[in-house]
Amino acid sequence: MRIDISTLTISEARKKLDAKEFSSVDLAKVYLDEIKKKNGEINAYLEIYDDVLEQAKEADESIAKGEIFPMTGIPISLKDNILISGRTVTSASKILEGYIAPYDATVIEKLKSQKTVFLGRTNMDEFAMGGSTENSAYGVTKNPTDLSRVSGGSSGGSVASVSMNGALASLGSDTGGSIREPSSFCGVVGLKPTYGGVSRYGLMAMGSSLDVIGPITKTVSDSEILFNAIRGQDKMDSTTYSESTYPKIKNSKNKNLTVGVPYHILEKGLSIEAKKVFDESIEKLKNLGFEVRDIKLPNIEYSLAVYYIIVPAEVSSNLARFDGIKYGLHAEDGKDLLDDYLKTRRQGFGREVRRRILIGTYVLSAGYHDAYYNKALALRQKISYDFTKALSEVDLIVTPTTPGTAFKIGEKANDPLSLYLEDVFTVPANIVGIPAISLPSGFVTEDGKDLPLGIQFMAPHNREDWLFEVGKKFLGE
Ligand code: GLN
Repeated sequence: MRIDISTLTISEARKKLDAKEFSSVDLAKVYLDEIKKKNGEINAYLEIYDDVLEQAKEADESIAKGEIFPMTGIPISLKDNILISGRTVTSASKILEGYIAPYDATVIEKLKSQKTVFLGRTNMDEFAMGGSTENSAYGVTKNPTDLSRVSGGSSGGSVASVSMNGALASLGSDTGGSIREPSSFCGVVGLKPTYGGVSRYGLMAMGSSLDVIGPITKTVSDSEILFNAIRGQDKMDSTTYSESTYPKIKNSKNKNLTVGVPYHILEKGLSIEAKKVFDESIEKLKNLGFEVRDIKLPNIEYSLAVYYIIVPAEVSSNLARFDGIKYGLHAEDGKDLLDDYLKTRRQGFGREVRRRILIGTYVLSAGYHDAYYNKALALRQKISYDFTKALSEVDLIVTPTTPGTAFKIGEKANDPLSLYLEDVFTVPANIVGIPAISLPSGFVTEDGKDLPLGIQFMAPHNREDWLFEVGKKFLGE
């Protein structure tokens, strides 16, 4: 039978697999063919696993026995910073070239127990630092809707793999927008779960107080399915929480959810076309019966400054482990141990990673700790307080996901600050730890191409269910 993967979703594939309309092997073959056709140009995948059909066969055996879970036999891709035992994993860095993961990340263990099919590992900005995949040591991932543009980042390969129909879904990681920004650029659904909602065990650490793994899918229903498969408390990650111990705050009015718009932050930075798409989305929400209110987030303008101090600080500490001795690359021998470290790190790390290690080391150093790092922590608390207050007045907060559409490859490559500005709407959710979802909301025509754009909803901690509720209504699922 012919399988139309351009419209296929996890929920439909589940029905058809269970009804034996096609097998998991049939499905995997179609995806492998599509990847073969498109990946040369798009560069979404860094590696296609060589045992995909064997994995799919095992899934078919499970289905035949009636051992069926929501993700059984579903082919997905994985960002190259999620450990899967016995397979190469590099965080798109030269320093980890050829590194083999010694164990499974918790999310992988969970998906393996459901017999999910892993197609391969996807491109990303090196160690997840960036918003365009231009910081990958293995080339940029092109945007499937316009090959002259970036796919976004850092989970650009994961998102492009879904958008080019090279996977039914993908797992990415989000520290400041790395799932949502590329999802907005490529027209798919990207969820950043609550911090601690999904185990980070086996995710290569970037900013440990902000990192979270999340699903990238074509629909909100699929996002919910994959999120439910990976979520939950884990003894290997003490920051995870259990559903029963984490109180859910109540819907403010016990009727339709109320949506707050921080209009004051939309005054600058948003392109005219992007503002138009956003305004249309707000009209759509009103027509769907949501009450929309203006809200204030007084300290939100400091979010980027806070983020770009806390992240480098955590990065400089997390990446200290790559010393050329314990992991991956070892450059030529230095004249002493320190020289050895320096040579390996200079050769193995790209420019952005080195920049953040330098900034991080600086803001944590004895003389500047109080002036930068401690101040950032204090402001983080203030921003969190603003969100808690706003989310006691409304149920959801909505903003655009990005200031505009995907930019051209190379356009911002030599200007890190302008790239950091792309994160202006996404970093607050990480700073506060709340869940956020990006949904496709419309298109802007540029150079004769319809470029996708996203809208972002944020909810209180552990209230992903509200994001799914509003998301399904918004996309008419
Ligand atoms: N673009 C942001 C950064 O460079 C976000 C990265 C991420 O979420 N991993 O830090």
